[in-house]
Parts: sequence; structure tokens; C-alpha cells
Amino acid sequence: MKESHMIECPWCEAKLESGIKHCPKCENEIIDFDSRQNEIVESSPVGGLLMLYAATCVISIFLIMYNYVVILRYGISVHNWTSYSAFIAIYNFIHLFILIVTILLIFKKRKFVPKLIVGFEVLNLVSLAISYFLANDLPQKALIMGATIKVVWLCLWICYFLFSKRVKQTFIH
Ligand SMILES: [Zn+2]
Repeated sequence: MKESHMIECPWCEAKLESGIKHCPKCENEIIDFDSRQNEIVESSPVGGLLMLYAATCVISIFLIMYNYVVILRYGISVHNWTSYSAFIAIYNFIHLFILIVTILLIFKKRKFVPKLIVGFEVLNLVSLAISYFLANDLPQKALIMGATIKVVWLCLWICYFLFSKRVKQTFIH
């Protein structure tokens, strides 16, 4: 919505009613430089897919917590520890930290956040690749299926944070 107030023609400095498209005095097009600057300075709220991303982070936090609860309740004897389960337990701990930082940063809307999230997701892809190579004793078919879905999911988010207009408009501070 535009407030009705007097503006100055940027070309001939004549006083004009705002909302006018051409200056009647010099016949130049009126470009509202001030409001264009405001559009750039004012960031979009965190919403849409960004909100979905924040929600998936929260869900992931609960899943990891649940994972640890299962380990604590049923216990895994040292005998049962494979390099795979050790890697997952350690990576989950790092991932938990990353998820909490990500959620906090999304709502701070800092400029570097999208690149940081892309970095985190690439790290997720790397960890997925490592766990895939460590898990040669698990049922391969289900593993490949799950891993493929996860890779596609992560790549979609990486593209979103790299190319989305909304992301660019939100993280501007
Ligand atoms: Zn003018």
C-alpha cells in the first residue's frame, strides 16, 4: 500500500503527488528510488519452504534424540559396535549440534546463512557416503533405496538454498 504524500520529481525537483507515473513538468518517468531501496532493505519473513526446512530440522532433532534414547535403554554392548554404528552415533551428535545452530540462524536471517546451510547439507551427503561404505553388512537393497531418497532430498534443499529468490530476499542482514 502506498501512502499518499508529496514527492519530488527526481529529474526537475518539481513537487508532485505520489503515485504519479510521469512528471507533468519535465515529462520524465517518475522512479521512486526511495521505495526501491526500502524493498531491498526490508527482508521477507521466514515462511513457505523455509518454514518447512526449519520444521524438518526440528523433526530431525527429535529423531536423533529418540535414537539416543533407544541406545541408552536397550544398550549396545561393546561387542555389537561396528564401525558403522560408531560412525552414526558420532555423526548424529555433530548433526544434532548443526541442526540447533541452523534453526537459530534461520530466524536471525543473516546473509551467510544459506551458504552455511548448503555446507551443512554437503556434509550430510559426505557422511551418507561414508556410512554407506561402512555398512556393508546391512541389507543392501533397503539401504540403497533409503540412501537414494535422502540424496535427492538433500540435493533439492541445496538447490533451494542456492537459487531461491525467497532465500535471497530473506537472508539480507
Ligand atoms: Zn520533472
